Amino acid sequence: MFEVAQLIAGAWEPGRSAHRLTVVGPADGHPVTTVTLSSDEDVAAAVSAAREAAPAWARTAPGARGAALHAAAEAVDAAAGELAEIMSSEMGKPVGEARDSVAAGVGTLHQYAELGPTHRGRTLAGNYDAVDLMAYGPRGVVAVITPWNDPVAVACGLLGAALVTGNTVVHKPSERTPATGWRLASLLAPHFPDGVLNLVNGGGAAGAALAASPVDVVAQVGSTATGRSIAAACARTGAKALLENGGSDPLIVDAGVDPVWAASQAALGSFANSGQICVAVERIYVHRTVAEPFLAALTAEASAWSEKIGPLVDRRLRDTVDDQVQHALKDGATALCGGAVPPGPGAFYPPTVLCGCTDEMAVMREETFGPVAPVMTVDSFDEALTRAADSPYGLAATVLTRSMSHAQQAWRDLPTGTVKINAVFGGAPGGAAHPRRGSGQGYGYGPELLDEMTVAKAVHLQAPPSGW
Ligand code: NAD
Repeated sequence: MFEVAQLIAGAWEPGRSAHRLTVVGPADGHPVTTVTLSSDEDVAAAVSAAREAAPAWARTAPGARGAALHAAAEAVDAAAGELAEIMSSEMGKPVGEARDSVAAGVGTLHQYAELGPTHRGRTLAGNYDAVDLMAYGPRGVVAVITPWNDPVAVACGLLGAALVTGNTVVHKPSERTPATGWRLASLLAPHFPDGVLNLVNGGGAAGAALAASPVDVVAQVGSTATGRSIAAACARTGAKALLENGGSDPLIVDAGVDPVWAASQAALGSFANSGQICVAVERIYVHRTVAEPFLAALTAEASAWSEKIGPLVDRRLRDTVDDQVQHALKDGATALCGGAVPPGPGAFYPPTVLCGCTDEMAVMREETFGPVAPVMTVDSFDEALTRAADSPYGLAATVLTRSMSHAQQAWRDLPTGTVKINAVFGGAPGGAAHPRRGSGQGYGYGPELLDEMTVAKAVHLQAPPSGW
């Protein structure tokens, strides 16, 4: 079993709260990790350590900060297998997929190590005897609060961008993946001066204490409810809130689309990582002309996925997912596949296809963080677009269509940060988007994250008057 510690000013030690947490593996319910949680005083000490380390780290040459991040990335890469095993045992992702997500995290660290030292500034058109410029500098102390569903890749993005731009960090990983966060920090921290990267452990209480602390940025990836409470905390302290939150991403299947191919896309979008992806397909609008063969093919896909799908992170999440499904069934939806908690150990939930869904059902309106594909049949592309746009979230959307004009209409009109045409996942490296509505605020990734982690200063350097 992993025994997890916190890191404050370069010292690893157990948390000092009276609370101990044990994480059980979602595959079989066996204990995996134990951690004594950080107290409010620990959180305050970590923020103080980060504040103390901030001036020297801010003055460190950008090239040296980039080199430190490259070295840290190499250390994570060298331990990728071990980190993937820990992640898999804590949150249930199959080890092969966990390795891919560690590799993604390592790639992100290297990217920020390269991009950080060249991060922008510009000179302005000032008077002949002056120099005018806009210079970017670190914001100061960044609180990084991360979720469990892709714990290494998500943390690497925020940590890499914050550290390379000269900020110091207090990281609080999810209470569902504390050993993953602890091992990641133990690989990264030796490459930075003491106090530059600190780690605290705990759940919502530790996160709330950190978000209410005198930090300069709270960068959080997680649920919308948490994001909203962090935004409120930041409004009180004046810290900047950078939020990447939940989604209820629509998938539109247009008339004329091959229903079997569309079903394979829908299944991938709904069932990958057991549906525990922020940009998972959460609700499907299928044109009536292809609805029947699409539903038949999606049901076949779901039963094929049931052979290989991993568990949900824990039974608490499984209960929430099942509750949403049972409400939909009670309100008139039909389960074509899955739709019930299976017997046996762990937190497994079957790939589930629901038809006859309506706008009011939680499976259509809220985020369902599990392998559920709720389907509504529509009579036109316009109707699908209107329903897709009517959501409290605005993270991403996918449209499967043979029509170029429908594709154009969709990407221009859908009120989401990302629009994907004819592929549920994918996109070029370096893309970044603004999430809308309840899905967050600011750039949570991509080169623009470096802008979020820095402040711009306008400088006017005037030559002294002649004759001094
Ligand atoms: P969560 O909001 O429960 O927890 C996220 C982090 O916030 C954890 O570290 C948690 O301890 C902390 N936290 C909880 N309550 C807090 C509070 N009151 N104040 C401060 N911190 C608090 O989310 P989760 O269950 O870990 O993650 C799943 C969610 O994350 C889903 O909604 C998913 O869509 C979202 N997510 C979004 C993205 C994205 O890029 N938009 C990426 C991954 C996950």
